[in-house]
Amino acid sequence: MFDGTAMRGAATVVVRDGLVSDVTTDVVPDAIDLGDDVTLLPGLIDAHVHLAFDAVVDVVAGLDLDDEALLARMHGAAHQTLAAGVTTVRDLGDRSFLATKVATPLTVVAAGPPLTTVKGHCHFLGGEVASVEDMLRAVAERAERGCRVVKVMVSGGNITPGNTPFESQFDAGQLTQVVDEAHRLGMTAAAHAHAPQSVVEALDAGFDTIEHVTFMTAEGVEPPPGVLQRIVDSGVFVSLTLGALPGGTPPPAIAARLEAVTANHTWMAQHGARVVVGSDAGVGPVKPHGVTPHALAVMSEVLSGVGPLRSMTSEAAAALGLAGRKGELTRGADADLLAVRGNPVVDADALLDVVGVWAKGEPVRR
Ligand SMILES: [Zn+2]
Repeated sequence: MFDGTAMRGAATVVVRDGLVSDVTTDVVPDAIDLGDDVTLLPGLIDAHVHLAFDAVVDVVAGLDLDDEALLARMHGAAHQTLAAGVTTVRDLGDRSFLATKVATPLTVVAAGPPLTTVKGHCHFLGGEVASVEDMLRAVAERAERGCRVVKVMVSGGNITPGNTPFESQFDAGQLTQVVDEAHRLGMTAAAHAHAPQSVVEALDAGFDTIEHVTFMTAEGVEPPPGVLQRIVDSGVFVSLTLGALPGGTPPPAIAARLEAVTANHTWMAQHGARVVVGSDAGVGPVKPHGVTPHALAVMSEVLSGVGPLRSMTSEAAAALGLAGRKGELTRGADADLLAVRGNPVVDADALLDVVGVWAKGEPVRR
């Protein structure tokens, strides 16, 4: 058993009312024997998905359906996610707050439509804001609608026509007010940040997680001097966009910069930055829902031992504000369990060989 923090020996997890009520090496009557070649671990956590996106080439065109049909499709995406052993996701951008309405055993920490500028990155999701007053109103609306995180497009992005990832979309003063208001209302705050300056602004504003962190410019990849160390020192969670089907190619803007982006991510991870996996599942053909376990192979090149698994369980839970409740197999945590054949610490592919998945104690796959 991997308990979210460390590898333990053989153990029995006792589940009561959807929670882990005990973890023991004693004999427990009626226990399910998973066998000697199986590793039991907490259900995986993906810090960045889009249940509303259909993993097609043009995800914007793929949204051309009404809310009822879109919600039905999102239920399918949620089941696909669960079947892969991912029991908690943070949905960082939907339409019409539909991610808060996905009624499956999947735990969804939803952002609703990301805050963006007028005609800015992902404006088609409905989160356009024109002033700081708009932004604060949007934060309050997200709290009222059951969101547990506020997502801000601090820089532009790749999938929005007429928008570029190389520039910031907001100023530091606006961002600080948004983050403070989100925290005041009991939510966390996530910054989408590609442009070098946007990462600095996200740090200045006190976001809990920074997504992508590519430091992309029109020419290449240019982290401002000292910023990598500052990320490490700040304790902010860096959400790495990892996990893709083998053999796939990333979008051209990413592919051309991948080596430099990876080098910076590796440096941060190896110097103590808090890294989690945010696959961006749904955003394109190489990232179907349930793709998350594929991130382990890449993470295993960056971190040793149980580090990669922590990034996908207990560390991710902390990033989502769910420490102690998710991502660990300890007394009182939700009984989200994944059983795989083999040992994923020594063989990343083992994470793809699913034997069983339970969400809040209920079997969703055997
Ligand atoms: Zn995304």
